[in-house]
Amino acid sequence: MLKMIVCVKQVPMVSELPWDPKTGTLSREEAEGMMNPACKYALEAALRVKEEHGGHITAITMGPPMAQEVLHEALAMGADRCLMVSDPRMAGSDTLMTSFTLARAIETYCSEFDLILCGCHTSDSETAQVGPQLAEELGLPSIAYAESLSLRERTVRIERNSDHFLETLEMDLPGLITIAGQSFSPRYIPMKGLQNAFEEPNILGVNAHDLGLDDVSIGADGSPTKILDVCSSTAGKQNVVLSGAPKKIVEELFKRFDDTIGSVIRKDLKAVK
Ligand SMILES: Cc1cc2nc3c(=O)[nH]c(=O)nc-3n(C[C@H](O)[C@H](O)[C@H](O)COP(=O)(O)OP(=O)(O)OC[C@H]3O[C@@H](n4cnc5c(N)ncnc54)[C@H](O)[C@@H]3O)c2cc1C
Repeated sequence: MLKMIVCVKQVPMVSELPWDPKTGTLSREEAEGMMNPACKYALEAALRVKEEHGGHITAITMGPPMAQEVLHEALAMGADRCLMVSDPRMAGSDTLMTSFTLARAIETYCSEFDLILCGCHTSDSETAQVGPQLAEELGLPSIAYAESLSLRERTVRIERNSDHFLETLEMDLPGLITIAGQSFSPRYIPMKGLQNAFEEPNILGVNAHDLGLDDVSIGADGSPTKILDVCSSTAGKQNVVLSGAPKKIVEELFKRFDDTIGSVIRKDLKAVK
């Protein structure tokens, strides 16, 4: 039986991103959470493989306690069991620490697996680093940005768009794939799924101690990435009114905006004069 793991992250609902301009951070606790869209595609990909070949799906998330909501959603969609990796010491993990901690959870609670699926990136931090770093941590081959996926015995074949070329790649299992693209449009959740997700949810809670990380520097302490500043980009715009005779206006226009106009029409106007 094919054993699959899907990594899912909770992100703030896109429609409400409470941004604190003073600290430059997201007030995540004020926003409603949802499953990261690309993680949903990854779960849908796993469900389709399971329908075609049989299999077992474990969904894993690492986050604060409220992130457990995405595991209920994963169960409702069709995952078989879930791991909730949560501990106050894990707060503030950068992508390297997130991958490190997820790898320890997989080694401890999913010792035998064939395929790990991740989203290609998240809609909040959007680094696209966790999937490839997780593969590196576990010593696995990996392929990023898969848009289609098929399986023959122990070989997985994917297609992906790369610089307007369609690439077809094959990888032997075990391995890790990050999923992109809307060809894995997620299914509607059936009533039976909701029953599975809430009546007796198969979710195992795991903390740093369970993963043997008591003496290891984790979370913000173990994260080499430090955010020094975050700011919104501002577009500068200014209205200028030129007056006088048309000839004078045109001369003035070129005097002020030579470089801008030249770069648009691709001519060095100073050389033309
Ligand atoms: C210094 C620092 C502090 C941070 N503190 C926080 C914080 O307190 N809270 C917070 O939410 N984020 C925090 N982040 C962001 C945090 O590092 C990232 O959310 C997390 O490491 C994933 O990065 P990403 O969102 O860019 O994931 P990507 O690399 O874009 O994600 C790709 C895929 O990896 C998998 N994945 C990513 N993260 C998880 C996860 N947590 N659980 C399961 N699967 C996952 C999913 O399949 C996802 O689709 C911090 C980042 C930095 C640099």
